[in-house]
Amino acid sequence: ILQLYKPLDQFGYSYRSLQKNFIDMEWMLDLFEEPVEIKDKLEAKPLVIAGGEVVFENVSFGYKPQDSNIKSVSFKIPPGRKLALVGPSGGGKSTILRLLFRFYDPTQGRIMIDGQDIKNVTQSSLRSRIGIVPQDTALFNETIEYNVAYGRIGQDYKSEKSRQSPSSSPKIADATEGEDADYSDDEGMELDSRIQAATEAAQMHEIVCRFPDGYASRVGERGLCLSGGEKQRIAIARTILKNPPILLLDEATSALDTQTEREIQNSIESTSKGRTTLMIAHRLSTIVDADEILVIQRGEIAEQGSHEELMQAGGIYASMWMQQLREDRTPVGSSDLSEKE
Ligand code: ATP
Repeated sequence: ILQLYKPLDQFGYSYRSLQKNFIDMEWMLDLFEEPVEIKDKLEAKPLVIAGGEVVFENVSFGYKPQDSNIKSVSFKIPPGRKLALVGPSGGGKSTILRLLFRFYDPTQGRIMIDGQDIKNVTQSSLRSRIGIVPQDTALFNETIEYNVAYGRIGQDYKSEKSRQSPSSSPKIADATEGEDADYSDDEGMELDSRIQAATEAAQMHEIVCRFPDGYASRVGERGLCLSGGEKQRIAIARTILKNPPILLLDEATSALDTQTEREIQNSIESTSKGRTTLMIAHRLSTIVDADEILVIQRGEIAEQGSHEELMQAGGIYASMWMQQLREDRTPVGSSDLSEKE
């Protein structure tokens, strides 16, 4: 992992201070391909969350000036609702998530959270309010505890831990500003018990208890090797601990056994309850209950509606669904529709 950070050095200290976010996004966003510097405006204010409404207003964007990878995309996710993005590979789904996390600014249009253009708020406040469960989770060569807690590093993990034991300060823990972290629901609980509660909710606690040193077991090159499903559970536990009002999910395409997949799906379902959720779906069976589904194709919204509406319309979504049925007759399939077409 450290290798991956080398290219960032040339972008200086300010980039390092955002390392936490980069790590979060690295697999999902392929950030290291082409980092673009987004700066806070001088008068930038912290994002103030009311309910977590997300609005894209005629958003256009191109990675290169001559390209238009997103073309006048508009949608609204009411607070606490779930919007799913589906469609062929390269259609622009990940780009929409990247724009919401503000790795890039739109070339036209604007993105609003609770009425605030995300261009006008501090990046640290924006990113502290958005949780991410990526397809593949990068873990640190650190303890399980650290790996679950790092979503809050820069807010309080480092300082609480160094108070408890000064020698235990983690290796990759450059501070982030995390200026407006508010975790009112776990007020008064010790960090260790919050970590455990989050890990339990992610259905990972029992697995951790079987590790030689429990939460103090190290993972990575010099420690335990976790399965894909276990890594995802760590990512879910992180998100539960971070408690963000807005959630970005990139459904895994990697094959997990059906039982694990169902369990993880259940944890994701309960984690996304009450949070505004924008998810990239590769298996249509997981988004039947989404409040709205957008079919993204060549940077545009090709279709939009609920599962029932889109099935009735008999268009792209309906044929993707039929294709999935043909390929996999079980309710939670393993085919990856985004790879098709
Ligand atoms: P997938 O399902 O395969 O992840 P997607 O729908 O998420 O695809 P995007 O990754 O958003 O699609 O890509 C949209 C378009 O933007 C594609 O044409 C892609 O080649 C292009 N693109 C993505 N990332 C970059 C980048 N860093 N630089 C230049 N072009 C890019």
